[in-house]
Amino acid sequence: MMHPETEVRVVNQEIGYGVFAKVFIPKGTMVYVKDQFEVRLKEGSLLLNDPRYKEISDKYSYIDAAGTRIISWDHAKYVNHCCNPNTMTTGYGFEIAIKDIQIGDEITDEYGLFNLEREMPLSCKSKPCRLLLSPNDFEKMYPVWDEKVQAALASFNQVEQPLLNFLDRREQKALMSYLNSGKGYRSVYTQKKTERATRARRSGTRDTDLAIG
Ligand SMILES: [Zn+2]
Repeated sequence: MMHPETEVRVVNQEIGYGVFAKVFIPKGTMVYVKDQFEVRLKEGSLLLNDPRYKEISDKYSYIDAAGTRIISWDHAKYVNHCCNPNTMTTGYGFEIAIKDIQIGDEITDEYGLFNLEREMPLSCKSKPCRLLLSPNDFEKMYPVWDEKVQAALASFNQVEQPLLNFLDRREQKALMSYLNSGKGYRSVYTQKKTERATRARRSGTRDTDLAIG
């Protein structure tokens, strides 16, 4: 679910739709949350091999740490990638504004955190552009992403959080524990899909309690 004060607009003919801020959204605000309404397609779902649906799921979904494809029920699926984004995935099941977002700004994201299965050519307005999004970006870049997320989380309790109620209770607990104590930060690396996550899921144990720090 996207922040309620955002809307879809056409960016241009080449890019198509994007999501824009209708109000000022300060750094530290939750901008997207993986809520209970999201469409979840587990690894191995027959729909993922159905050619009628494949294009849609490739275009509009991301893959979480458990290997599940998530397709947002609302306009969150129209958020575009930027190599210099203003929001970023956290280790807690939501995305956070990593800088102040002004009225009318396009909301952009780091797709490198979405467990891409193949490379994707890029051309961002913001320079420098990596030009190619690679599944290997996660491994290379997560320390930089963590720095940005931690800097944004420092403002979490000082700003309005209209999406907080939709955050999974276990995630809320882990987040509040970190915010209150400064210990037990959960790295964005926990969002990387691993064989371990897939195995854990198959054996019925949860893998969301991995923590770094
Ligand atoms: Zn780029």
